[in-house]
Amino acid sequence: MSQPPTPLPRSVDVIVIGGGNAGFTAAHAAATRGRSVLLLERGPEDLSGGNSFYTAGATRIAHSGLGDLASFVEADPRHSVTEVPPYSAIDYAADVAKVTSGRNDPELTRILVEESQSVLRWLHDLGLRYRLMYERQAYERPDGSFLFWGGLHVGNVDGGKGLIADHRRVAANLAYDVRYGTMVTGFLTAGATVIGVRAIDEAGVPTEITAESVVIAAGGFEANATMREQYLGSGWGKAKVRGTPLNTGELLTAAIDLGAARGGDWSTAHSVQWDAFHTDNESNRELTNRFTRQSYPLGIIVNKSGKRFLDEGEDFRNLTYAKFGGRILEQEDGIAYQIFDARLRPMLRAEEYDMPGISVTSAGTIGEIADLLGIDRPGFERTVTEFNASIDRSATFDPNVKDGRAARVSPPKSNWANPLEIGPFYAYPVTCGITFTFGGLKGDIDGRVLSDAGVAIPGLFAVGEALGGLFSGNYPGGSGLAAGAVFGRRAGLVA
Ligand SMILES: Cc1cc2nc3c(=O)[nH]c(=O)nc-3n(C[C@H](O)[C@H](O)[C@H](O)COP(=O)(O)OP(=O)(O)OC[C@H]3O[C@@H](n4cnc5c(N)ncnc54)[C@H](O)[C@@H]3O)c2cc1C
Repeated sequence: MSQPPTPLPRSVDVIVIGGGNAGFTAAHAAATRGRSVLLLERGPEDLSGGNSFYTAGATRIAHSGLGDLASFVEADPRHSVTEVPPYSAIDYAADVAKVTSGRNDPELTRILVEESQSVLRWLHDLGLRYRLMYERQAYERPDGSFLFWGGLHVGNVDGGKGLIADHRRVAANLAYDVRYGTMVTGFLTAGATVIGVRAIDEAGVPTEITAESVVIAAGGFEANATMREQYLGSGWGKAKVRGTPLNTGELLTAAIDLGAARGGDWSTAHSVQWDAFHTDNESNRELTNRFTRQSYPLGIIVNKSGKRFLDEGEDFRNLTYAKFGGRILEQEDGIAYQIFDARLRPMLRAEEYDMPGISVTSAGTIGEIADLLGIDRPGFERTVTEFNASIDRSATFDPNVKDGRAARVSPPKSNWANPLEIGPFYAYPVTCGITFTFGGLKGDIDGRVLSDAGVAIPGLFAVGEALGGLFSGNYPGGSGLAAGAVFGRRAGLVA
């Protein structure tokens, strides 16, 4: 017979809402200060971990090269033949500003980049495991050496699944209370101060718990189709949810109803190119991130008219992928096709393009691909012919650097332009997969939630996706986990 769940405590020092990367980090920090911590996670234990579970674990940090990283990444025999270019705090801040077109909060950005490495070292000391991400962020050179690119080099051992397993082990070591299947439904207040939460416990019983501090780490509103349509715009209800179905935004609304200010850009979201037709392509806990199609900088992307509509080689993939999902949504039927030829196919990221059950069509000619997929055949053939003819072949193709090998068509392809001329050709249908929303609550550098007047709401913090202000329109890959860790730790150290 199963045991009835242990009753929830009536009162603790710190309640953390949400058991993803940001929530666990905040809880660890508070627990290391001797605070009594209760982490409430809406998902049952076997569906827990939030979006963080679905990640590749890629974490963007500032560093000065492999020597700086070696003490906290797992040893690897390839290190001796590996070059990891330094990625300074200045570079990191510049990348955030560049991809958000300067709409990032400068103070939050400063803290993110300055503390990005120290927080990983701190988490590593607690028990999290990190590694260099060879398979995602480095290409092997002909001499057998490796060059990392894109400013994103470190990831969790075993990706998001490993990240959450590690966090849970640390939580057990720190012996604080983690409750699954417990959904927070609102806040308890005394005047303007937040003094606890209302929740539905594992047995479905409504309950109230008081606390000195409440940390919202409950994600954004990406899994709420109604809120997506309302804030991101018409059509966003159709986006596929890449990660947890449980980040539905109600607590953002509840905090705003209490007087919290909105933070950041509520009208844009992180979204990627995502397998369009796989039958189980939302919140899939087995295949997680493998529905992403990230090798597009090597080929071209066309819509149903056979036309290109964006610059696939505008910048390193880490700096463009998070805005291209939305561009796909704007196309007819919200669909586009990534196109590669036989020469490019072996270079596609195996984890994604060798995914079991992948949607793919291949044929001996571009025209046959068009007919098989219902793409406008003359339009598609014209696109490929013009693209091939426009490539500046004086520049040498090199996927490790922005090689300037451009196709001078409209729209241009600024780097990595390769002619599509050797069959078989491959078409991967992609749609928009939403990752997380950029809008959240307005907070200070410790995650204290601020009112419209800029005054902290006593007792209330927001971290992770729930803290708005860092990103808008686009995002540098790997900054979500970094931001959750940085601001999670800061909130946990003061809550
Ligand atoms: C497929 C995919 C791949 C990604 N890859 C990367 C990557 O490699 N690197 C990177 O930096 N970022 C990546 N991201 C983004 C990253 O997941 C997020 O930025 C980060 O995980 C957010 O952490 P969080 O703790 O704020 O939210 P989450 O990890 O989503 O945790 C929020 C938790 O709150 C819980 N919750 C929600 N409402 C309630 C409630 N009312 N009561 C109690 N609990 C509640 C949810 O169940 C959830 O467990 C990826 C995202 C996805 C979906």
